Amino acid sequence: MSNKTFIPQTTPYHWEDIPVLAYKETGTHFSKITRQVLFEGGEKIGCQLRYFEVEPGGHSTLEKHDHVHNVMILRGKGEAFVGSEVRAVSAFDLVYIPSMTWHQFRANAGETLGFLCLVNCERDRPILPTAEDLAALQAHARVAGFIRV
Ligand code: MN
Repeated sequence: MSNKTFIPQTTPYHWEDIPVLAYKETGTHFSKITRQVLFEGGEKIGCQLRYFEVEPGGHSTLEKHDHVHNVMILRGKGEAFVGSEVRAVSAFDLVYIPSMTWHQFRANAGETLGFLCLVNCERDRPILPTAEDLAALQAHARVAGFIRV
């Protein structure tokens, strides 16, 4: 956690004294992805800004939750699934992920995909899809071909 006023970038997509963390503590429902907490948030601003980076071929967790995400793609290209739609995304695109909406990011365009994600500090735990949820998602051919669990 940093409370410094100025935090320079040290090398591309890395910042002074901000560690590169595992994407999540545990689990196998993601691949080749790291997390950096750029701003921790706190009592005066109840949200965190994180930077996630997905290596080519990797993906974030397919999940949903009550809290929302405000995402800006910062680096590279890939695709994102939100709700019922899969879309190509690239640097500086914005993605809004509403409450209780399935979502997943994939670096499936041969490039590293990096994105900023703004999220509430206090938030519920992500829900993973059940077999029934997956069957429903897979009813859509485009989605079935995209999602990874
Ligand atoms: Mn999420």
